[in-house]
Amino acid sequence: MTELTPRKVDMEKITSLSRRRGFIFPSSEIYGGLSSCWDYGPLGVELKRNIKDAWWRAVVQKRDDMVGLDTSILMHPQVWEASGHVKGFADPLVECKSCHLRWRVDDLGGNNCCPDCGGELTEPRMFNLMFKTFMGPVEDKASVVYLRPETAQGMFVNFQNVLNTTRKKLPFGIAQIGKSFRNEITTGNFIFRSREFEQMEIEYFVKPGTDKEWFDYWLEERFNWYVKLGINKENLRLRQHTKDELAHYACECYDVEYLFPMGWAELEGIANRTDFDLVQHANSTGKNMEYFDEETKEHFIPYIIEPSAGVDRSALAVLCDAYDEEEEEGEIRVLLHFHPSLAPVKVAVLPLSRKEKLATLAKQIHADLRQCWSTQYDDAQSIGRRYRRQDEIGTPFCVTIDFQSLEDEQVTIRERDTMNQIRVPISELKTALAAKLSGEDLLVLPPGGKIWKIEKEA
Ligand code: ATP
Repeated sequence: MTELTPRKVDMEKITSLSRRRGFIFPSSEIYGGLSSCWDYGPLGVELKRNIKDAWWRAVVQKRDDMVGLDTSILMHPQVWEASGHVKGFADPLVECKSCHLRWRVDDLGGNNCCPDCGGELTEPRMFNLMFKTFMGPVEDKASVVYLRPETAQGMFVNFQNVLNTTRKKLPFGIAQIGKSFRNEITTGNFIFRSREFEQMEIEYFVKPGTDKEWFDYWLEERFNWYVKLGINKENLRLRQHTKDELAHYACECYDVEYLFPMGWAELEGIANRTDFDLVQHANSTGKNMEYFDEETKEHFIPYIIEPSAGVDRSALAVLCDAYDEEEEEGEIRVLLHFHPSLAPVKVAVLPLSRKEKLATLAKQIHADLRQCWSTQYDDAQSIGRRYRRQDEIGTPFCVTIDFQSLEDEQVTIRERDTMNQIRVPISELKTALAAKLSGEDLLVLPPGGKIWKIEKEA
């Protein structure tokens, strides 16, 4: 974490809304929770899926030079010897001699006493962040396996498999989304740093010598991805790693940082991993990790550019950025300005009354809309309260069916951000919503790049 800057949203509000509305719960809550592990509730799981889908669409589906992969969490233990994680994936740690709390030296900011009780600290000692477990029935040294601390290695060890089965030519990339595990010493700040988390990683293989150019390309590409998802540009920045911050495998690295409630912190790391990993696996296995360039007839080991993002940190940034409070007729309206492509619920169908005639029509409309989008049907309490409930979970559109609808076959679309209402014929409802929700044109930013906004209706 770098400088601390006050933010309009405090984490308390985000955690409380997440808990209250079913985005995120503490893991094993009825047992008192498990430190730094979280469960995504009905809305959280949709939000997370939408983030992953947006990433997959941008980096795999829409590109010719990228393929996907899904590799196992448990890998041959030698992978982690070769990658340097058994030796090098460690943080220096100190322990308080009085209260026995442990601290990352990096987090102490030069202090040499315990931040909690002021007690004396031990000398730093290296603490490996990989979770160990045993494979098979015997718990001995030979059966040790690790829960992967990054998804990257699954892509490196499959480099030749992908090359042979897809006949891709350099430059090309492999993308993977999956769980990673790190026995972090200090956790906290809600889902920002947890011990089990999800990553979205790209390993982009390039010809040595072209790596700088591709590194710069991916910096821009990845930064803009967050802007296109509706995150305010002023809350994002790129920060270059200093030499002593660089991971053992990288020659250059930048972080995409977001201005979280606790200050600027990493959302995604973009590293030039050079040929480190492929060389290590070639040396460790004796297998050929080279690429043959048919045009130049050269054999070489590619360099790798790695944009590595966190799903959970993206979800937290999206929640913080979307959170808003407005005063509305003496009451506070809490709303989440989610980009429509990320909103867990796209459309809510709200009949003005539960009377059978109206309910029948509303249910028909709901059944039709849910073929296309994630929807909610809500007929409980006043229409005002129902709008507020939808605002609070970031639903971009509500469709209201009233008695007039039975006569003129029209319904009202109410927009979350402006609260504007328009009447549309039921026969055109889907088209109207599709136009408003269709990600593509909404993803194109106006000059200056402000968050997606619903236009005021004429
Ligand atoms: P940090 O410095 O915050 O520990 P890192 O530099 O170790 O992060 P990377 O190894 O670059 O992180 O991992 C890539 C991405 O994975 C990070 O940008 C982040 O989004 C995510 N990530 C890493 N560790 C965690 C964690 N403990 N909890 C949640 N997400 C994480």
